[in-house]
Amino acid sequence: MNSFDPRAVPVRSAHFIGGEYVQMRTNEPMLDVSRPSDGETYASLPIGDASLVDHAVENASRAWRKSGWATMAPRDRARILRRFAELVEADAARLAPLEALGSTRPVRDAFAWDVPFSAEGIRFYAEFADKIGGQVAATNHGHLGMTIAEPYGVIGAIAPWNFPLVMASWKIGPALAAGNAVVLKPSEMTPFSVLRLAELAVEAGVPAGIFNVVQGDGRTTGDALVRHPLVGKVTFTGSTQTGAAIMAACAHSGTTPVTLELGGKSPQIVFADAPRIDEVASRIAKAVTSNAGQVCVAGTRLLVERGIAEQLAERIERIFRGLVAGATWNPQATLAPIISRPQAQRIDAIVRSTLDAGAQARCGAAFSQTDDAGAYYAPTIIEGVTTESAAVRQEIFGPVLTLQTFDSEEEALALAAHPDYGLAAGVHTADIGRALRFVRSLEAGTVWVNRYGRSNDFIIPTGGYKRSGIGKDLGKEAYEANLRFKSVLIDLNG
Ligand code: NAD
Repeated sequence: MNSFDPRAVPVRSAHFIGGEYVQMRTNEPMLDVSRPSDGETYASLPIGDASLVDHAVENASRAWRKSGWATMAPRDRARILRRFAELVEADAARLAPLEALGSTRPVRDAFAWDVPFSAEGIRFYAEFADKIGGQVAATNHGHLGMTIAEPYGVIGAIAPWNFPLVMASWKIGPALAAGNAVVLKPSEMTPFSVLRLAELAVEAGVPAGIFNVVQGDGRTTGDALVRHPLVGKVTFTGSTQTGAAIMAACAHSGTTPVTLELGGKSPQIVFADAPRIDEVASRIAKAVTSNAGQVCVAGTRLLVERGIAEQLAERIERIFRGLVAGATWNPQATLAPIISRPQAQRIDAIVRSTLDAGAQARCGAAFSQTDDAGAYYAPTIIEGVTTESAAVRQEIFGPVLTLQTFDSEEEALALAAHPDYGLAAGVHTADIGRALRFVRSLEAGTVWVNRYGRSNDFIIPTGGYKRSGIGKDLGKEAYEANLRFKSVLIDLNG
């Protein structure tokens, strides 16, 4: 699917609680929701207040205790979740335009990647449901010691706007497979596609009330969710600043445990011996222009060995200049819109302040001209920066690449270190020893060697070092993060 008519996509604006759509309550404040592709307001979103959140969490908690979701044979839970994954996959013709309508995801990509990848993630976690139940401990002969894995109850999940379906699936897959109920708050900028997920979960046999969606902003709805006393664990993906606020809220409301997937400013380190420079250039370009750079692991800081810097920069610049900005439903477009005009202005402000401080733009550094009225930013390369430059320090969340050169491994490592972030890094070299020295030395939650970006290996977890996060999404780690482990010791002679 390459195109669709944005005016023909039906949108249901509501919460989803107890297995059904819950319409706006009287006096519920509303928020306008706009399409990033053309800036048009296409829906109003209810902002759930503390009482709405309380209703959703109470309902989820009751469903968790009464529906048998947590206590059913784990294989049966797995079967329902596999069915859920199948329904999601089969719904691509409806889900993909819904996703592309209100987000920055081109419909072609939503169809080919976001929807099947979300389904596969749910399927991956379904397979865990009957595989991890605890362990027998090595105790002395007179004792039997064990751990029993148990769900938390209600998981409060908060998601960002950059990949609405995929980010939601990373939260709900492991939480549901482990036997929890979920109350999910999507971003107020991309609130609708996950409602369809909730509907499909019920159709697959997930009991009503086990997967709920509450709509609203962070300050009102998100805050009420993370502070709710019946929420056993919070899982969040978003900015470092919001992650810190959520952690503080969780501490205030009774040490609720948190998983935080936060921001990044990831380096790409290219040595002169890296094989196939054209391929390296397209890898680097893709890592900062895919989803217009609105990717947590975007490789935004290019560190290149001096001898090949010019050749590499030329090639990346050529790719950047060839990208065509356009709506998510425009089949010719190869560069996605920025989520909102204020966000595009923020990108531009960081670029301007970096240039004002003495750096030079090799290309871009301006809004893209398009026929669509949305906000588009031209892929930008900035040279002449230092580790103190705003564009090197701050997460920009746009298609902006800074370029710094180095002459030695030590210098490359020093430049790669960021004072705050440690989400991901890329190393491009033909020397395996050097690659492994960097794998060992880089302070990053993920290191890619001679590639950049995820594969379909869901077993590899993702998460940040330093202020890029706490805990992991994906992998066995995310499944275990949705369980608490009870220790049991039995005296066999007691
Ligand atoms: P954001 O932090 O502004 O918002 C994320 C979510 O938190 C939204 O649903 C928002 O409504 C909610 N929220 C805001 N304030 C809140 C509060 N006080 N209490 C509870 N909820 C609150 O992030 P964003 O702009 O939506 O997303 C972009 C950010 O997400 C970037 O920093 C990016 O790096 C990060 N991200 C990280 C990963 C990862 O895996 N590490 C993945 C995707 C995005």
